[in-house]
Amino acid sequence: MRLPLSLLIFLGLLVFIPDDSTASHQFEQSPEQPKVINATVPTYPIIAAMAHVFGKVEVEVETNAKGDVASAKAISGHPLLCGTSEEAAKRWRFELEPKDKNNRSLQLTFDFKNPSDVSCNVKPVFINPYYVEINFVYKLPEFSDTINHIPPESKGKRCPVHGELLKRDKVEIIYGLIEFKPEYLEAEKRLFPYANTEDYGGCVIDNVVNPCDGTEVQASPKYAEVLYCQRCRIAEAKWNKTHPWQRK
Ligand SMILES: [Zn+2]
Repeated sequence: MRLPLSLLIFLGLLVFIPDDSTASHQFEQSPEQPKVINATVPTYPIIAAMAHVFGKVEVEVETNAKGDVASAKAISGHPLLCGTSEEAAKRWRFELEPKDKNNRSLQLTFDFKNPSDVSCNVKPVFINPYYVEINFVYKLPEFSDTINHIPPESKGKRCPVHGELLKRDKVEIIYGLIEFKPEYLEAEKRLFPYANTEDYGGCVIDNVVNPCDGTEVQASPKYAEVLYCQRCRIAEAKWNKTHPWQRK
């Protein structure tokens, strides 16, 4: 699936999960190449994805006698991808033959795939034990279902009508076009300025679609934290009862 990455990033909807999973892989390989015991896949740097940088990085590693990587140096590839590749390469391990118990120089290839090809495949792909394709993986961030509408420094604030200390509450947010009657707005100002039985979130609910699996997530919060006065709420309920047609 192809989506313009710049758009996705502009919308700020995607969080990119680097995949630094460590795994062992069984492959047929040429006898002269030491067997890979541990292969760590580089993370796909967000900055590289945003800069639309991708492609192969070749890393030359030197093993020590135990099969650990003593040093790793990128010999080709984009600078934005070299650091992560070298870091990952340092965590590889090889099974050396007794005759190899001296340092060996080996070459790994990390192939960073085009980040615009939004990938639902979380796993990196081993083309062979020394060659890994790294896809760009993302998931939707989690949206908070509650927004704080309590102004700072409101502690100790009292209702100007009833003189009661304002309390905190979590109320539902109403979306859509709501037009209050002037009579209601006038009464609210005068009789129950801190009823705050619900909150208003504007005309539309923002939903975000995960292009990977098509699931939809509501980005707009469902609830708001507000300050209220209990006597305002009683006054509003009373007013609504006597003016049912004048509210909205
Ligand atoms: Zn009040």
